[in-house]
Amino acid sequence: MASRVIPVEPFDLVIFGGTGDLAQRKILPSLFRRFIEGQMPPEARIIGAARSALDDRGYREMVAEAVRAHVSPHRCTEKNLAAFLKTIFYVPVDARGETGWEALKARMRPGVVQAFYFSVGPGLFGDLAQRLKSHAIAGETARIVVEKPFGHDLASARALNATLAAHFREQYIYRIDHYLGKETVQNLMALRFGNMLFEPLWNAQYVDHVQITVAETVGVGGRGSYYDHAGAMRDMVQNHLMQLLCLTAMEPPSKFDPDAVRDEKLKVIRALKHVELPEIVRGQYLAGPDTPSYREDVDNPDSTTESYIALKLEIANWRWNGTPFYLRTGKRLKARLSEIVIQFKEPPHSIFDSPPGQGANELSIRLQPDEGMDLKVTIKEPGPGGMRLIDVPLDMTFAEALGEEVADAPDAYERLIMDVIRGNQTLFMRGDEVEAAWAWTDPIIAEWEARDQRPLGYEPGSTGPEEAAILMHRDGRRWRELKT
Ligand code: NAP
Repeated sequence: MASRVIPVEPFDLVIFGGTGDLAQRKILPSLFRRFIEGQMPPEARIIGAARSALDDRGYREMVAEAVRAHVSPHRCTEKNLAAFLKTIFYVPVDARGETGWEALKARMRPGVVQAFYFSVGPGLFGDLAQRLKSHAIAGETARIVVEKPFGHDLASARALNATLAAHFREQYIYRIDHYLGKETVQNLMALRFGNMLFEPLWNAQYVDHVQITVAETVGVGGRGSYYDHAGAMRDMVQNHLMQLLCLTAMEPPSKFDPDAVRDEKLKVIRALKHVELPEIVRGQYLAGPDTPSYREDVDNPDSTTESYIALKLEIANWRWNGTPFYLRTGKRLKARLSEIVIQFKEPPHSIFDSPPGQGANELSIRLQPDEGMDLKVTIKEPGPGGMRLIDVPLDMTFAEALGEEVADAPDAYERLIMDVIRGNQTLFMRGDEVEAAWAWTDPIIAEWEARDQRPLGYEPGSTGPEEAAILMHRDGRRWRELKT
């Protein structure tokens, strides 16, 4: 099948924090890949901006190194790289001072799309937004892209929204949640709303429960000081898992339009019931033979922050009343895996004398490591021997039919950055969604803090605390195996 890459309009993209980890590991390699695919036009310009005293040449060397390190060698040829580097520029800018802003202004071109990626700590968002306007650098339709964490609680998220809103209108603010840029997340919407088959079954009558898992094998690494003030609830559940939950549970929007989709997601968040503490399991990884404990990693021997959380959620609306959504996420677990599993109910009556559980279809939507979807269906075991049934996975990745397009699908950052340039906010969080998610999260955290609840220790390389399995067993269910 022929690839259909449609080039975006010429643009000036300023990456504040262009020398930082995110820019080097994700943003610049993603732009390179879009460049060699022909989606980023050669007239586009990427302008790195940070305090480091670099010139265009020095920054190009840094970018070349980042691209070589993060793009596979067969795509990162020296010819491609040399062409890409012609689009790269650098301006030393201090977000907190007046240095560099006029030089940045001089680099911007009239008549092209303007985008400003705030790849810096959230403490600088206000300074950047204000100076982009006070120096008349950002035009009326300039877009800004902001990274997580978007606030620490409802009050700080509101303050951040208000700061950005003082300088930019909501339609130009792109709050990134890279999970939304995953191919399979969009496929979830295509599956639900582009087919007749699934939507009639997508409700409490036919769905037994939903599981959403984001498991990591790594520990907190170098992010210890940030993470210990956040924990799994703030770092993962409030944003990534919440977004996956919304797309799974939302009503069909009237059209695939940014506000129509986000209105429906917002309704899901607002319909979430408060989760009581017995429905939550919080854990902290212990030391392994070769790995430090969470407390050692964050250098806080008394830390009560969770590196693992499992919880049972209910959505108070007609579609989902009585269908639990089980969410779990954690670090230093047995496998690296992100997936959504829709567990359908068993047929009401088996004419085949099937064992319990057979015929309960299971749709799994895997975000990583290998993006794809499969549907467990029950069929007759082929061959003689009577009517024996087996469960088999129906691979819905369609690699054969779609060939290279599946293998070469852009990664989340590539898609999202191109969406910013195209001016499409569908896969970005709106301010009211973020606030609603904090409004749901805050009282839960407040409750465990008020009771001084301590997380349970769990072994590194395990599936988390045993109590998380018990949370499911109590309801006669179990987690899907954590395996890749
Ligand atoms: P980082 O490696 O610490 O980089 C921070 C960048 O900000 C550097 O380029 C730094 O360059 C620049 N900077 C700091 N103070 C500045 C100032 N006053 N004026 C101008 N530039 C300044 O951080 P990061 O990991 O790239 O993260 C950037 C943002 O993305 C953070 O909000 C983070 O939470 C978020 N995020 C990161 C990741 C990730 O994987 N890294 C993932 C999700 C979200 P100079 O020192 O040269 O000024």
